[in-house]
Amino acid sequence: MTTTHTSADLDTFRARCIAFLDEHAVGIGTDDDPRGEHGLAAAKVFQAAAVEAGLAGLTYPTAYGGQGLTTDHERVWREECANHPMMTAQLVISQGMCLPMLDEYGTDEQRAAYQHRLISAEEVWCQMFSEPGAGSDVASLQTRAELDGDEWTLNGQKVWTTLAHVCDRGIVIARTDPDAPKHRGISMFIVDMRAPGVEIRPIHQIDGGRRFNEVFFSDVRIPADHQIGPLNEGWRLATAMLMYERVAIGASSIGGIQRPNTDHLIATARANGSTSDPRIRQELAAMYARETAQSVMALRSKADLQAGKTPGPAGSLGKLMRAEISRTLRELLGRLHGPGLVAGDGVDGAGKATLATFASSIAGGTDEIQRNIIGERVLGLPREPSVDKDLPFRELRVGTQRS
Ligand SMILES: Cc1cc2nc3c(=O)[nH]c(=O)nc-3n(C[C@H](O)[C@H](O)[C@H](O)COP(=O)(O)OP(=O)(O)OC[C@H]3O[C@@H](n4cnc5c(N)ncnc54)[C@H](O)[C@@H]3O)c2cc1C
Repeated sequence: MTTTHTSADLDTFRARCIAFLDEHAVGIGTDDDPRGEHGLAAAKVFQAAAVEAGLAGLTYPTAYGGQGLTTDHERVWREECANHPMMTAQLVISQGMCLPMLDEYGTDEQRAAYQHRLISAEEVWCQMFSEPGAGSDVASLQTRAELDGDEWTLNGQKVWTTLAHVCDRGIVIARTDPDAPKHRGISMFIVDMRAPGVEIRPIHQIDGGRRFNEVFFSDVRIPADHQIGPLNEGWRLATAMLMYERVAIGASSIGGIQRPNTDHLIATARANGSTSDPRIRQELAAMYARETAQSVMALRSKADLQAGKTPGPAGSLGKLMRAEISRTLRELLGRLHGPGLVAGDGVDGAGKATLATFASSIAGGTDEIQRNIIGERVLGLPREPSVDKDLPFRELRVGTQRS
């Protein structure tokens, strides 16, 4: 990795970023994208151009398709991306979660096989943790993997898998030792989403989207060398991936102090003449404060990541703040648009945007779970009682396991 650079080098690099983004960060072109397919296609074109320009995977090693640059370069790139339309929203899971996991926990062979493909978005990966009976308590998962010669056989079901229908591979956690306590008998694998026995069914969302899915595994074969990390230590890795997820959700698009929702709401309030309403003014000010705080927290998380620190529980703060912003947005859109919001498609897509805000309090772990994490692991409050943590998983009555 290049470790020395002058501020003039960074200025030159910034100019390169701006020139590239002016040309390529031109927006997705449509809001009507129920399955995320347009967004993903645009992201792939953008990422291919970024590879060509030497601007993809900035801090990842050159041996695996990165640029081997410094965290300062990454910071400059993000600052400039924040001034342009976001082109890679559909790559948040693949590049914001799967890629750093592979980099941190993958074998050299796995990194050689896949890292450059993830950086270039030639391959897109999904995350398969949640199950019908295992969401907040994901350690209760029942999808199982059994070793058979030099391959694993995977059986079970995942749910809410974002973009599974357009992904090439996914990171899955499965039970590999049902006799161990629930957190200790889990392992992590890379699964080919087009392998025989993988069935993907869309879930219909209230905003009209179908971006996430149920995924069923019936005797899916996984080569033994596609296990990530040590056997039965998948829970530790899953926790690390969830930390990356919270930073990705809470901080992904932030490159400086940004208040996109406040700006949009002020414009809406001006347009419909409600800026003199004291309640609206108060709530706009609250939104301004929340978005400012969110930006500062996101910058802090990013600085930690750039300093080489694995994201810690503080990532939950940014994730929770993002959910609070969504809630405030929902309430303010309701006040500003009134009943028009629920008629037809709502006002200028605001109806759809309002319905989409509910996901922020659930995706990546619910608000209650973030509060538990902040209480226990940031503030040092007593832990939630956990009566089943030392019992063999096989004996538990959890999730859909009832007998
Ligand atoms: C838009 C979106 C995208 C998603 N994408 C993915 C994905 O790509 N991959 C994936 O694996 N999953 C994904 N998920 C699933 C998500 O991680 C889960 O929905 C989430 O963890 C909650 O699990 P659950 O839905 O089973 O709710 P439950 O865990 O059943 O929770 C129900 C309610 O109980 C509360 N609750 C549960 N336990 C506690 C507790 N200990 N203390 C206090 N309250 C508690 C919760 O806060 C919630 O209000 C996605 C979800 C959404 C909304």
